[in-house]
Amino acid sequence: MKHYRLREEMNGVAEPPGKVWFWELAAGVIDADRCVRCGTCVAACPSNSIGVNRRSGLPELVKMCTGCSLCWDFCPRGGLRYEALWPRSSGEEQVGAWPDTDDASWKISAGPPAEGLGAVLEAYAVRSVRRREGVQDGGAVSTLLVALLEAGQIDGALVAKPSEDPAEPWKGVPTIARSAEEVRAAAGSFYNQTMALGELDLSRYELGRNPRIAVVGTPCEVQGIRAMQARRWSTGAHRVDAVVLTIALLCTKSFDYEGLVLRELRDRRHVDLRRVEKIDVVRGRMVVRYRDGQIALDEPVKRFHTSALKGCDECADFLGRSADISMGSVGSLDGWTSTIIRTERGRAAFELARAAFDLRDLDDPDALVRLDGLDKRIAFGSLERSFDPDGPLFIDYETHVANYAGSERRAMVAIR
Ligand SMILES: Cc1cc2nc3c(=O)[nH]c(=O)nc-3n(C[C@H](O)[C@H](O)[C@H](O)COP(=O)(O)OP(=O)(O)OC[C@H]3O[C@@H](n4cnc5c(N)ncnc54)[C@H](O)[C@@H]3O)c2cc1C
Ligand code: SF4
Ligand code: SF4
Repeated sequence: MKHYRLREEMNGVAEPPGKVWFWELAAGVIDADRCVRCGTCVAACPSNSIGVNRRSGLPELVKMCTGCSLCWDFCPRGGLRYEALWPRSSGEEQVGAWPDTDDASWKISAGPPAEGLGAVLEAYAVRSVRRREGVQDGGAVSTLLVALLEAGQIDGALVAKPSEDPAEPWKGVPTIARSAEEVRAAAGSFYNQTMALGELDLSRYELGRNPRIAVVGTPCEVQGIRAMQARRWSTGAHRVDAVVLTIALLCTKSFDYEGLVLRELRDRRHVDLRRVEKIDVVRGRMVVRYRDGQIALDEPVKRFHTSALKGCDECADFLGRSADISMGSVGSLDGWTSTIIRTERGRAAFELARAAFDLRDLDDPDALVRLDGLDKRIAFGSLERSFDPDGPLFIDYETHVANYAGSERRAMVAIR
């Protein structure tokens, strides 16, 4: 591998067994175009050896790798079997109960059955009582965060705000919002991944010694947090320990910023990005609306698949099953946010904001289950197609499928 000259020169020098190095993550995930830009590897590295390449936006080695294996172990496209993090579905023993992380019986081995909506304590269609500018659906995520900040329950929230670089219109970048104003300025959806968990190096923010942070993220980002919290390691500069609440945005796929916004929208379809009020993926269509109400674009989302992240095809966690609360648009009428409260921690947070919400039952919970089923079928098909036992890295497909079915067997991941 051309980037690792020193490493190659060391070939033949015996190394302790069981080590996985960053270059193996690079070969199996990043260079293989399977990275979903969650930033878990950056946050997991105890020696702060992984950074974000400014040009590509992908993880890169910024200093020596010690071969501790953690970047690989926690990567949702690498060694992490994220389904092991899903609490049991409704009607079963452990509904919504997150075991204490000291509980040795809670380990990353195999997951519970992934039926229905997963663990559900309460589920609603939610909308902010006060209508807010710039929100994506019912504004429930922003309203919840503002209520938590104002009640002093959190010191900040990891969200995505618009890039300030004029060359990057409609690009979301990660930030810790510490005030209601900052939360509101970050409302709405950006259809790009932000390497969000890399932002958990809180030394860039004035937050005191023991900050409490809520994380809003796509399900893969929540998987990364859950995994690192379930297996407590020293995580270097990144304060995974500070995360007290996780809010997953329902997600079937995300996109490459340049591919989607600059190439497909601006260059090919001549969308005037300065006039855009909202970009939405809804009911299988990509819809772009200008501030004057004009629809700039309304096309089947499948026409944009070349700019979707390839690693998203392998993801079977549309519903964000390991979050405290999952929120999205599917399952509710336009202008409302479908909200699934999964844990007691999530319920306590939601209660605090309840007075700021209009609530009613989900309009179409079956739509959520149907889309979840489709998402899983795509993931299985994608894994099957990419299964190459002669490649540099392969996932034992049979075992992976068995895990989705709720087997107690540990997934086998082999690196060659
Ligand atoms: C990439 C992506 C794909 C999605 N796919 C679906 C889907 O298939 N089906 C579905 O029902 N819902 C999907 N959603 C969720 C949906 O778009 C809304 O975010 C959700 O309904 C909440 O709406 P709201 O009005 O309550 O949120 P708002 O009050 O508008 O707040 C949204 C919050 O999300 C944060 N955010 C925005 N973009 C990102 C990002 N890229 N990464 C991390 N945080 C971000 C914002 O900073 C803000 O805090 C997706 C969201 C994203 C970002
Ligand atoms: S998918 Fe996430 S953890 Fe894996 S390499 Fe990409 S950014 Fe790192
Ligand atoms: S589809 Fe899955 S892997 Fe892709 S951004 Fe959404 S949660 Fe992450």
